[in-house]
Amino acid sequence: MAGGPFAHEVTCPTCFLEEATVTKAVRVSEGVETDQYRCERGHAFGIDWSRGPATKPQWPPPEGGDDE
Ligand SMILES: [Zn+2]
Repeated sequence: MAGGPFAHEVTCPTCFLEEATVTKAVRVSEGVETDQYRCERGHAFGIDWSRGPATKPQWPPPEGGDDE
């Protein structure tokens, strides 16, 4: 298990970097060090968790919005 249970959902880096959009991506397969994800808009990518699994939920993003 790479990212652990907290890493099941993450922010898609492609949407974030290329389109400044925060999109949820879901893990589609787990590796030993790298998990593979696919976002709701179809981007596929891997995240290297070799430094250790996530210690807190990766979704929703920790960055605060203006929801309050
Ligand atoms: Zn995306």
